[in-house]
Amino acid sequence: MKVMKKLTLLLSLIFAVAGCGSETDAAETQTQQEAAADAALEVHFIDVGQADCALLVADGHYMVIDGGNNDDADAIVSYLKNQGVKTLDAVVGTHPHEDHIGSLDAIINSFDVEAVYMPKIMHTSQTFEDVLDAIANKGLKIKAPNPGDTISFHGLPVEFLGPQQEYGDFNNNSIVLKVTAGERSFLFTGDAEETAEKDILNAGYDLQADVLKVGHHGSSTSTSDAFLQAVSPQYAVISVGTGNKYGHPEKVTLDKLQNIGAEIHRTDMEGTVVCSTDGQNILFNGVSTQTETADTPVAAETTETYIGNKNSKKFHTEDCSALPAENNRVYFENREEAISLGYQPCGSCKP
Ligand SMILES: [Zn+2]
Ligand SMILES: [Zn+2]
Repeated sequence: MKVMKKLTLLLSLIFAVAGCGSETDAAETQTQQEAAADAALEVHFIDVGQADCALLVADGHYMVIDGGNNDDADAIVSYLKNQGVKTLDAVVGTHPHEDHIGSLDAIINSFDVEAVYMPKIMHTSQTFEDVLDAIANKGLKIKAPNPGDTISFHGLPVEFLGPQQEYGDFNNNSIVLKVTAGERSFLFTGDAEETAEKDILNAGYDLQADVLKVGHHGSSTSTSDAFLQAVSPQYAVISVGTGNKYGHPEKVTLDKLQNIGAEIHRTDMEGTVVCSTDGQNILFNGVSTQTETADTPVAAETTETYIGNKNSKKFHTEDCSALPAENNRVYFENREEAISLGYQPCGSCKP
């Protein structure tokens, strides 16, 4: 009871009275001209195991969405320092679960912070209290965004789509936000589950996004069919820990993403995933994969294509029944090229 009282008091002190005061946002002083001039954005989905932490970078301006677990503090702070962060234009804690706000206190203590956004719900955990203390010590107030509010991140629109209402659980109360850079957009869903997804859908927003930060670490309780259909992402990023006890990401979610044609990136398999755009093209870890996704017709058009297996170092004809998985393939124009690179002809298709 004592803890609740303290939290209630802290919250009343700490929440800005009128949600997102649009005129008071320092980040919103950008002119329209500046906004049009530069639509470049990098999103670093930092590998924090079974947790979320994304760093957004726009022309030397920085924003963080979620702050990993408590144990990730040192790793996140040094990652941010290595990226040149001194000031964070905005810090978003999507919801008060430890795997989303665990190291927000360390982040807030380590950098200048201009604004903190969190949903208007409280948790009785020490982790949550630590975050409130860090915010209060910096003389900041939490802004609880209203759905439909838009702020500017160095000229890039950041639209808050959820939570649409207060829910009885933390995950559905997640702040859901869409960041647009030129013609490309990124949707961050925290741990929002089907109930919240439905309300966001019903609110009638344009949910289409090129990159989806998949809800709740790929749990089957998020990424409902209708929601995924509305987003129809080209890329899906899952922030998830190897061998986590929840079995995330779940196969049903991975299948859905695959069926809709999204290229999946996972922090448990790739480590930190860096996605960048100039407002038009999208690169993952510095590489454009768009030709790869579209290269079935390219491969089919080329009559003399040989396909190598990166792992076995065997090469095959295009119609061999033992072709490797797409991501293990290397394409050669002719036999000589394959052999010169140390590949052996397959014994069954005899290329
Ligand atoms: Zn959660
Ligand atoms: Zn989570």
